[in-house]
Amino acid sequence: MKLILIVMIMIFNVSAYANSSASILLYHHVSDTTPKSTSISPKLFKQHLKYLEDNHFNVLPLEQIISSLKNKEKLPNKTVAITFDDAYKSVLYEAAVLLEKKSWPFSVFVNAQATSAKYKNYLSWNELKTIIKKGGTIGSHSYDHAHLVRKLKNESNKDYENRIYNNLKKDRDIIENKLDIKVKMFAYPYGEYNDFLKKTLKSFSYYGLGQQSGAVGQSSDFLAIPRFPMAMNYAKMNNFITRVNTLAFDIKNVNKAKVF
Ligand SMILES: [Zn+2]
Repeated sequence: MKLILIVMIMIFNVSAYANSSASILLYHHVSDTTPKSTSISPKLFKQHLKYLEDNHFNVLPLEQIISSLKNKEKLPNKTVAITFDDAYKSVLYEAAVLLEKKSWPFSVFVNAQATSAKYKNYLSWNELKTIIKKGGTIGSHSYDHAHLVRKLKNESNKDYENRIYNNLKKDRDIIENKLDIKVKMFAYPYGEYNDFLKKTLKSFSYYGLGQQSGAVGQSSDFLAIPRFPMAMNYAKMNNFITRVNTLAFDIKNVNKAKVF
């Protein structure tokens, strides 16, 4: 009897978390011919989508998920967001084709420098307009995909802060101008951030997306939101299934231990 009671309490708690939790998936290339460390094959990507569909997941717009969690509003059980960093060609020609068929939203984080320079494998501004028509939302990923936490040699704090602020502003201004949209989300290049970067994102009224694994919940830091990277081993079906079914704990208090 005691055992049954304990199990029931656990089920109740899990269902409570399920309404205030989401998994955000992070992809780069969806291609068999790009670097393996940042790629998933179109075949495996299709299997991911099939799993989400067969198991009744709710693929919702990223910004909607984050603002619901921030405002302590309930989400449907099994909520997932799909994101792509760097805006590679295969996002439009492989992924978006499949996502559009299901009317599933997704987000793409753009470096204006790579897009403007028409680097190989990167989407053009016109192609990004097509992404938006297919249900994509565009976010910023810094102007030049720099290691934003790194100070240059002999750079003062003030110069570092000005450089980073200008980098983020330049990316935002170009994206907004080229695509006629408002940028509201930022994905840290390489998932690297520090207190100054978080403060800067706050001044832009951005949500900040990291690359650390974990589900996002109501008590998450919305300037450093976790995402599950999907490439190599992490993208295999058994790992994918674990990640999309992960729930965020609602953390009430964090006590930092003193380090002597
Ligand atoms: Zn990137």
